[in-house]
Amino acid sequence: MDPITGFTSTTVEADRTFERAARSVGLEVERHPYPVPGPDGEPLFTAVTRLGSATAPNVVLLLSGVHGVEGFAGSGLQCGLLQSPDIVSLPDGIALVLVHLVNPWGMAWNRREDHENIDVFRNLLYHDAPSDPDPLFDEIDDALDLPHWADPSRSDARRQALVHRHGLPRIVAAVRRGQHHRPKAMTYHGNGRCWATRALHAIVDRDLARVSRAAVIDVHTGFGASGAGLVMSYEPVGTPRYERAQRWMNGDLYTPGADFDIPAHPRPPYAFLGERIPGLEPTALILEFGTEPPDVTRDLFPANAYHHLFGDPRSEAARRVGARYRQFCYPETDEWKRAVWSRGVEVVQRVIAGLGQSAVA
Ligand SMILES: [Zn+2]
Repeated sequence: MDPITGFTSTTVEADRTFERAARSVGLEVERHPYPVPGPDGEPLFTAVTRLGSATAPNVVLLLSGVHGVEGFAGSGLQCGLLQSPDIVSLPDGIALVLVHLVNPWGMAWNRREDHENIDVFRNLLYHDAPSDPDPLFDEIDDALDLPHWADPSRSDARRQALVHRHGLPRIVAAVRRGQHHRPKAMTYHGNGRCWATRALHAIVDRDLARVSRAAVIDVHTGFGASGAGLVMSYEPVGTPRYERAQRWMNGDLYTPGADFDIPAHPRPPYAFLGERIPGLEPTALILEFGTEPPDVTRDLFPANAYHHLFGDPRSEAARRVGARYRQFCYPETDEWKRAVWSRGVEVVQRVIAGLGQSAVA
């Protein structure tokens, strides 16, 4: 089967492809129902399946859709792996757990955030330890004036003055650092655990309870050259965990913070694995596939947020913005899908091999 048939066009199709492919190779699928439906009333859920031994002491956790609509790439990779399970060889002692659509609502509604405007990636990081927002954040949010984004008499002068005064990198970095105190603003981390964080905790508690080593591959899109897959580690450079990831990737590791679109975080994502499962040693990698240059679509982020937070997400204007935003996150050409597939398989194989070596070392 052509592996790019695993790449779908809707959340419903992605769910169906994932479940069918899993069952066709005799795997069970567990559903975690999402509390609210998709735009056509369709039920949404996160699905989980496991390849390899149920008692393997080492697990690779492959996640899609942490950032909602970015999830088509990771879903395509997961479905392709289920359709062609022989493409990666799993040694004894290593299992591959696929968590399909961590934030299915965002994928269904063309949003990066969940139904409560929470950035799930950042909620996973900061749910128990809120970060301090950038001191510029409120000024930027006030200047953006999201509630009046579509008002024709609205002036962009304040925002332009801020960019002029501080420079675009500083503004983007302040927004990307995120915040806990303005629920109807950009890059909201949430307060406490959002639905997806609770679901992922439940999955980890059950599926990784007796695991000694785990690797996470969390698939995202929207940064880097089109179709290229950058592998990132948020561990501090020079630490044993960072060096291990660097070894696994043969020295080809991208370090967050080098570009203002990908900020470093004060603590690594997926540290919660080690906190929830005593003795578990996690290695977390973010696999980021490039689509278009971020500057081309920079205004899509606030525009999309406006329609969902203050406008009508079902309006024609909202649909137009959502469709363009989705295209930015998921170019959906065969060429792009093939690039994602081949790089995705390569990274999964490298991580399986690396985890295998770590297990015997
Ligand atoms: Zn992302």
